[in-house]
Amino acid sequence: IHQESNRLQMLINDLLELSKIEQHGYTVSNVPTSLQDVLIRAVDVTSPRLDEKNMQFSVDIVRDVVVMGDSNRLIQIFTNLIANAITYSPEDTTITLRIKENKEYGIVEVEDQGIGIDKNELPRIFERFYRVDKARSRNSGGTGLGLAIVKHLVEAHHGKLDIVSEVGKGTCIKIMIPLKKRI
Ligand code: ATP
Ligand code: MG
Repeated sequence: IHQESNRLQMLINDLLELSKIEQHGYTVSNVPTSLQDVLIRAVDVTSPRLDEKNMQFSVDIVRDVVVMGDSNRLIQIFTNLIANAITYSPEDTTITLRIKENKEYGIVEVEDQGIGIDKNELPRIFERFYRVDKARSRNSGGTGLGLAIVKHLVEAHHGKLDIVSEVGKGTCIKIMIPLKKRI
């Protein structure tokens, strides 16, 4: 019962947040933010569940990248993506985290060796409450709001998002956030 009411509380929080965003748009602060610091925090939050499944992180950061953003909101994005990578992967697999950049964007990739997402489902997974069937029947405890919130948060940062996935192989989600301009 306690667990159920926690889930209900989480669902209510997610829903409130989402409806606020959809009505007013998101306001995020726009300050220079280290992607490496953000990832460290997201790793910290998610590592207990990672350990439970005997999974590990592989971190591929050649150098840090500074973007314009809201650190708490960025942490929320990557916590969500890493949580999904853990939920939808078998035990003993690896989640790879990469930081890169191009001319305009700081880029973070979260890649898992999990169940993957069918091509036909890919366009829909960012819809609120959408869950791929297999995931729905698994008792993974989610509500299907995580990626809808992620999408709004990325848009609020004037960022972009890309996803590549293969069933049975894994998923790679790429988040692009505008770079801090060099002066
Ligand atoms: P929650 O609201 O708790 O995050 P959720 O994880 O089901 O619930 P989303 O995070 O929005 O919801 O994800 C939507 C669906 O996309 C999931 O139910 C799952 O089917 C699929 N999905 C998301 N991430 C992955 C992934 N890394 N690998 C495979 N499937 C994924
Ligand atoms: Mg999720």
